[in-house]
Amino acid sequence: MSEKDEKIIDGEMTEIEDGQENSVSEEKKENGHTQEDDDGYEHVCMICHRPESKAGKMVDMPNSMTVCKDCMQRSFDAMRSGNIDFSKLMNIPGIQFLNVQDLGKSMPKKQRIKKKTEEKPKEFAKLDIKKIPPPHKIRASLDAYVVGQDYAKKAMSVAVYNHYKRVVTDTMDDIEIEKSNMLMIGPTGSGKTFLVRTLARLLDVPLAITDATSLTEAGYIGDDIESVVSKLLAAADNDVERAEQGIIFIDEIDKIAKKRSSSQRDVSGESVQQGLLKLLEGSEVEVPVGANSKNAMVPMTTVNTKHILFICGGAFPDLDGIIKERLSKKTSMGFNAELKDKYDKDKGILSKVTIEDLRNFGMIPEFIGRLPIVFTLSGLDKDMLVQILREPKNAILKQYQKLLALDEVKLEFDDSALEAIATKAMKKDTGARGLRAIIEEFMLDIMYEIPKDANIGQVTITRDYIEGSGGPIIQLRGQAPTRLDETGK
Ligand code: ADP
Repeated sequence: MSEKDEKIIDGEMTEIEDGQENSVSEEKKENGHTQEDDDGYEHVCMICHRPESKAGKMVDMPNSMTVCKDCMQRSFDAMRSGNIDFSKLMNIPGIQFLNVQDLGKSMPKKQRIKKKTEEKPKEFAKLDIKKIPPPHKIRASLDAYVVGQDYAKKAMSVAVYNHYKRVVTDTMDDIEIEKSNMLMIGPTGSGKTFLVRTLARLLDVPLAITDATSLTEAGYIGDDIESVVSKLLAAADNDVERAEQGIIFIDEIDKIAKKRSSSQRDVSGESVQQGLLKLLEGSEVEVPVGANSKNAMVPMTTVNTKHILFICGGAFPDLDGIIKERLSKKTSMGFNAELKDKYDKDKGILSKVTIEDLRNFGMIPEFIGRLPIVFTLSGLDKDMLVQILREPKNAILKQYQKLLALDEVKLEFDDSALEAIATKAMKKDTGARGLRAIIEEFMLDIMYEIPKDANIGQVTITRDYIEGSGGPIIQLRGQAPTRLDETGK
């Protein structure tokens, strides 16, 4: 041990700092790190894993390790008293076996917390009430991307507008505005995730999308409930302030309904709903940075979920049955009894959903209570599917047309071809999700063959081609159109 080291061990914390200060160049900044060290991320104590913002200034060690003053002081105290108790030193129960070489390696960025800097623009931190787009503008932007679902778009625009008003004002005198968490009910492929994604992009807020099926009560196999907040933090580049104004979308929420007949502990159903309550309501949660579960090696930070907008979505299969049952019970008495099967053909049955139906489905009342805005999305019909192919700003057809335009080839789709694609997608019963798969299958040959021949100027996709009874129409530059055979040759 060198003379200098001995001096450090003998001394108190202040002396260590002095010793360190002398040994490094004048570049040292006030917080004890050189300018080159400052990569915009907080330093984390290698012993207790608390970040700089919690543990205070760090002491630099060799191999770019940093230790907080508390841990440093604790180490000296332990050494002074003569018997070193490693469990105390590590600040965690039981002795930890650490590989010092691993500690030397700098911690991966995804596990580090972004420093709070003033120069970084924080739009929502300084959000001005006049700058939040009003509902009709949010709606108009959604219209450019999402086909149909008018009620959902309207309800969402108003809810989001109110939510961010709440974020800006925090409270309005003594009238506290309630959170506008939402519950979306709609069949698969009807655009639930797409709506939320579009919304987050328009508002430029971080978005985390999680699947409720992967969540379990803490301590069981699966992701902890707080992992949804960790994901949002990652989406916000580990910037806590930005994450606190983001959106969390929890898909497949119907899968955490209370299990009806189960003698075992319901770790992935009711318990998850219970666990989500405090997040939905707004509370301070300790979340691991860059990981899905807490463990001794992962740094932690605190995120307040008060201003995070939660949107839950699910297909709720069989909910229509529950609604029908309720409605027909009402009418099964007296003279109206003959109307019993009147709801069987009602396509908008889901929109008649009530809190009572959701409770019967298996959602606990406290959970539904924290999702005050409930709306439904309708299943997509053939016409809507055709529109989805053609109209949105980033419609699939436009994407292919752009790709071929780069080869200076014009791509056209006959109306009847689009209808044939929509009919095929309807058969799959996965909403708009099937469209891309179908179109990709037909475009494969086109995308493969066309670049072979530089003379081709235009390709028209026909109904026959989609139905397998013909080929697309090919037009050479400056010549009349010809039809390719089925194989696309
Ligand atoms: P889900 O309701 O199951 O969450 P998604 O939102 O994932 O369905 O939809 C799948 C894809 O289908 C989206 O990525 C989007 O491209 C397309 N899509 C679905 N619904 C619509 C819609 N109403 N308008 C435009 N595109 C849509």
